[in-house]
Amino acid sequence: MAKTKWVAVVQCEVMRERCSGADCAVRFAGRRDLFAEHDSDVSVYIPITCGGCPGRRVARLAAHLKKHMAKNQVTTDEVVVHLSSCIVNDNHHGPPCPHIDDIKLMLARQGFTRLIEGSKISSGAEKKRATGVYKNR
Ligand code: SF4
Repeated sequence: MAKTKWVAVVQCEVMRERCSGADCAVRFAGRRDLFAEHDSDVSVYIPITCGGCPGRRVARLAAHLKKHMAKNQVTTDEVVVHLSSCIVNDNHHGPPCPHIDDIKLMLARQGFTRLIEGSKISSGAEKKRATGVYKNR
């Protein structure tokens, strides 16, 4: 597997109305939760949002991202894309995104196949999943 150079995070546009994305960024910086696998020398962190349902901004921003990757000699196999926890998990924001498969397909068509489902792990949401308040995936 190629060495990771950049990490991108796709976040839910609706959730971002009340979330700055700071917690994911801080956890990336500290290599916590679903960011733990990234080497300490990976410094480029790119948060993007889906643009609202059904998430088609992802295709446009993935294409834009690739332009900048080319300028920096970065290839798609050197980029890991997280689908943020607000997209993939049932949590206090709401149920998982109903367009996850389409978002994955849009990323795959742009060559992004190194996906990680999740970003921040919320201890409160984990407890509610354990007790059945939120559904597990
Ligand atoms: S539910 Fe899915 S498609 Fe809709 S805004 Fe959130 S991430 Fe985007």
